[in-house]
Amino acid sequence: MAETLEADVAIIGAGPAGTAAAAHLGTLGIKDVLLVDRHDFPRDKTCGSGISPKGIETLKQLGVWEDVAEHAYWIRGIRIVAPGGRDSWQSAGDVAEAVVCKRRVLDHLLLQKALSGGTRFIPHFDAAEAIEENGRMLGFRGRDGREVRAKMTLVAGGSHCRVGLPELRPRRTIQAIMGWWDNAEFRPHHVEMIFDRMIEPYYGWLFPESETRVNIGITYEDPPDGKKNARELFKRFLDKHYAERLANATQVGGFRGHPVVWSYKIDKLTAPGRIAIGESGLMTHPATAEGIYQGMRSGMLGAEAAADIIQGRRPQAEAFERYEKGCVKAFQLSFWGGGVFRKLVKTNALDWLIAATDQPIVQSATAKLMAHM
Ligand SMILES: Cc1cc2nc3c(=O)[nH]c(=O)nc-3n(C[C@H](O)[C@H](O)[C@H](O)COP(=O)(O)OP(=O)(O)OC[C@H]3O[C@@H](n4cnc5c(N)ncnc54)[C@H](O)[C@@H]3O)c2cc1C
Repeated sequence: MAETLEADVAIIGAGPAGTAAAAHLGTLGIKDVLLVDRHDFPRDKTCGSGISPKGIETLKQLGVWEDVAEHAYWIRGIRIVAPGGRDSWQSAGDVAEAVVCKRRVLDHLLLQKALSGGTRFIPHFDAAEAIEENGRMLGFRGRDGREVRAKMTLVAGGSHCRVGLPELRPRRTIQAIMGWWDNAEFRPHHVEMIFDRMIEPYYGWLFPESETRVNIGITYEDPPDGKKNARELFKRFLDKHYAERLANATQVGGFRGHPVVWSYKIDKLTAPGRIAIGESGLMTHPATAEGIYQGMRSGMLGAEAAADIIQGRRPQAEAFERYEKGCVKAFQLSFWGGGVFRKLVKTNALDWLIAATDQPIVQSATAKLMAHM
């Protein structure tokens, strides 16, 4: 007979959302936490791996920042190319520092933090279906037949996993494709964001991961009636913007594609016995596709809701309402701002803004705006 595992809180997925939730549950006094992932760690994840100032703040709150800082590559400036061709290098100054930390490293450090707080981790557990009774989620079943039963389940499986998800609002998709290069020409400690009409309202990027390695990618939308050829689009982008700087570089591995799912509205994140956190709850930024900070922050808020219910501080309905309000407070303004930004990218506004950045004060303000968006 297949094994049954039990826990107070079970979490599907050990990305930033699931690991942050597990780590935070440990500090809230919930010791019986079971975290499963279909992979073992450390594992790679297709991602630019950029962490914004808010993400750094959250890592500090989780008590994992010092470990991440040791492995991260520091970002102190940004190059922005506007759709009309205006090109500007800007300094973020001392305040708006960001970092790039490879997901293989970041997610593993977050997992180690959760383990040190008492979380049990089961790798190679592929959650296949929810176990429900009278509409309440009691746990989930793996593809191999093993079962997990828990008082509360946090669904943190990212863009593809739908196991046990509450009936979510309609999801929208940003497509992304990227690659890695050694010895490309790049300005140290600067990220690049290239807004080009061929991918509007999205952008392409170059993020340095170390003194020698960069990742480059594009985000774009498919038209309602079909699919763009991702590789062909990416090659056109690379030829136009990076051909010279990649001439003597060595590509590391192949191109990797992965979608990012999102929604402007933040609601319907809960249903009896379950809470959606991170990208499973469609909480990624509509303009930048940022999801690491949103994953960790919603993971912490979801952990607080689960702890409130299990420790008897609040009834489920009140804890759920508090969780959704917490996510709205944390993200809604920036998601609406992202919507405005998507519209601006289709005009000449970004070119005008960059033209104004000849003024140092506007320069620094623009860099901070991009870092905090
Ligand atoms: C190309 C690209 C570039 C990006 N660049 C950035 C960036 O620079 N900065 C940024 O902040 N965000 C970026 N993002 C977004 C970011 O990667 C995600 O939004 C973020 O990882 C979401 O975190 P999460 O924990 O919700 O999910 P994920 O990180 O996707 O983690 C989900 C975990 O669940 C596991 N899982 C899935 N299904 C199951 C299952 N059925 N059973 C068990 N386990 C399961 C997976 O193995 C995975 O480990 C990028 C995304 C893409 C695609």
